[in-house]
Amino acid sequence: MKIGFIGLGHMGASMATNLVKAGHDVTVYNRSPGKSAALIELGARAGTSVADACAGSVVVSMLADDEAASDVALGEGGIIRHLARDAVHVSMSTISVALSRRLAQAHAQAQQGYVTAPVFGRPDIAQAARLFIVAAGEAAAVDACRPLFAAMGQKTTVIGTDPSAANLVKLSGNFLLACAIEALGEAVALVAKAGIDPLAYVEFLTSTVFNVPAYKTYGTLIAQGTFEPAGFAAPLGYKDIRLALAAAEDLQVPMPVGSLLHERFVRLLAQGGAALDWSAIGGLAAQDAGRLRSMG
Ligand code: NAP
Repeated sequence: MKIGFIGLGHMGASMATNLVKAGHDVTVYNRSPGKSAALIELGARAGTSVADACAGSVVVSMLADDEAASDVALGEGGIIRHLARDAVHVSMSTISVALSRRLAQAHAQAQQGYVTAPVFGRPDIAQAARLFIVAAGEAAAVDACRPLFAAMGQKTTVIGTDPSAANLVKLSGNFLLACAIEALGEAVALVAKAGIDPLAYVEFLTSTVFNVPAYKTYGTLIAQGTFEPAGFAAPLGYKDIRLALAAAEDLQVPMPVGSLLHERFVRLLAQGGAALDWSAIGGLAAQDAGRLRSMG
């Protein structure tokens, strides 16, 4: 397929690479220059503007947050302005339910397709083309994107026809992951202060009753106290908790644990943790317990 890809960050660079490797004709664009060299070498075309990436039947965006997604889609010279009628914008960024609804409306007015397809999996998983993708949108548009999802992920689940539903599922999933990180941090601080080897403790739990990828990945990072380099940066994790709480407020769903996580992120960032992985909130319990770790 002739497609465009916008946003070559930690996730986007690997996702675009896998699309090129799968044989698609991909034009890549990133706001800051210098991130596309490896992709061009692999066979991608270099775009110098959002418009360049909008020349095909699909444009994929993988951007940091609402501000970025709004600028790139709705701004002057953005996707809405340049994408052809009937072409599809696949928004894979983790953005708010509210912005996703605005984008759905703007694309409908421009007679363009709009599919949301946020992902679960860190950069190493993106590189291995093993992402879990949760997609939503009009069925024909989602179906048109299936070859792209197959090139980037190991499983795609279609959650419905309302695009914003996938954004809410993604935000709720990151809320659950942050809960796991906080809980692991508290449990590891408890056993470590008693002198039990935290890595052996995590290995025991994640090979028995908590034998799941999230506990393995984050339990190990917390037990090692390794929060750099960031695979998923703390400010992005903070963003997702804020967006989950915004959706909860909108729907009038109390999420007291979400509020606690919000405070954990504020504390981490106030202590200079912006360059750390979001799992660094799992190191705060050890600090509280008097087992001080440097926060970068
Ligand atoms: P990242 O490495 O920080 O990359 C962010 C991308 O957004 C970069 O290409 C950046 O361009 C671009 N960008 C930021 N602000 C922009 C603006 N105002 N206008 C245009 N482009 C802008 O982030 P990431 O880790 O790849 O994450 C991307 C998205 O995936 C986020 O929504 C994140 O929540 C989600 N996600 C991440 C992970 C993970 O583990 N990392 C996992 C699942 C989902 P520049 O290069 O110019 O800054």
